Amino acid sequence: MHRQSLTDYGKPLQATDAPTPVPTGTQVLVRISHCGVCHSDLHLQDGYFNLGGGQKLDVSANRTLPFTLGHEIAGVVEAAGPEAAGAVQGKRYAIYPWIGCGTCGLCARGDEHLCNAPRALGITVDGGYATHVLVPHPRYLLDVEGIAPEIAGPLMCSGLTGYGAIKKAVAFLRAGPLLIVGLGGVGMMGLQFARAMTDKPILVADIDAAKREAALKLGAAEAFDPADAGARKAVYKASGGGVGAAVDFAGSEKSMGFAQGAVAKGGAAIVVGLIGGTFTIPVAMFPLRALTLMGSYVGSQAEAVEMLALVKAGKVAPIPVEARGLDQASRSLDDLRAGKIVGRVVVTP
Ligand SMILES: [Zn+2]
Ligand SMILES: [Zn+2]
Repeated sequence: MHRQSLTDYGKPLQATDAPTPVPTGTQVLVRISHCGVCHSDLHLQDGYFNLGGGQKLDVSANRTLPFTLGHEIAGVVEAAGPEAAGAVQGKRYAIYPWIGCGTCGLCARGDEHLCNAPRALGITVDGGYATHVLVPHPRYLLDVEGIAPEIAGPLMCSGLTGYGAIKKAVAFLRAGPLLIVGLGGVGMMGLQFARAMTDKPILVADIDAAKREAALKLGAAEAFDPADAGARKAVYKASGGGVGAAVDFAGSEKSMGFAQGAVAKGGAAIVVGLIGGTFTIPVAMFPLRALTLMGSYVGSQAEAVEMLALVKAGKVAPIPVEARGLDQASRSLDDLRAGKIVGRVVVTP
């Protein structure tokens, strides 16, 4: 099998070859058709996450080099082990990549994406910048009938992240409407899922006027510029005294300050974005505002299936996708780093 692999942190990917694995037991060998190039791959390439305030989170542990990145994988079953029941040879699937150890309490309750000993494809075990990927069990193969193959992979990351966060938010909309802060790719997906999941008005906020305009076209009720000094007051007015839930898809000190400040009593602020930084809030505000503060990280396999059902039902406008050859993986990471990519790049072997 051919791969584009990380051979050294902070360096371009290199072409590497390895014997094509032969699946045993419940394993499934998938021939990759498309793999999305994701912003989080940049942190893995660097070997650290910038937490803000000069703090770095080392993400180079538990990985041996060369390592193959890529977690937004779609492909076709090429071979399956003798116990891999249900894996249909030649059938097209998206691969749920957030795979856990399979034995801990988190995995047992279906929260493999939160497992502390993950086997996540393209994160802790070899992933999708390759011709093939080995999947440990057929349960991670998700049916994507009717979904364009080039968006099936990215749905496992940006789609699932948007869906998982909005699902948490919907439970708090008794307290008021929804506010989405940060209208990048994930925020836009979140907006579309929200449209499918609630009848409450959806307010949006972003510093970029073009993104606000795009969100209004996708059904947002009102859009705000958080850099505007009167923005918080305007959100309060539009929401009749605060929103039930604010989802922060940016995840910076500023965006979080804005998001939690817009929440009504009894509501929730949900952090998704990973820009970083720190923010402070007087402890007494939690009881006095009956405020819930929570984080949301991708989503479970069950949520991935729910999310795909919404996409199959036509509730989500297709994201613009550019397909490039597998040998363009490293250049695509560079382009992403330089902010030169609109929509999603997928590499295709
Ligand atoms: Zn991703
Ligand atoms: Zn586990």
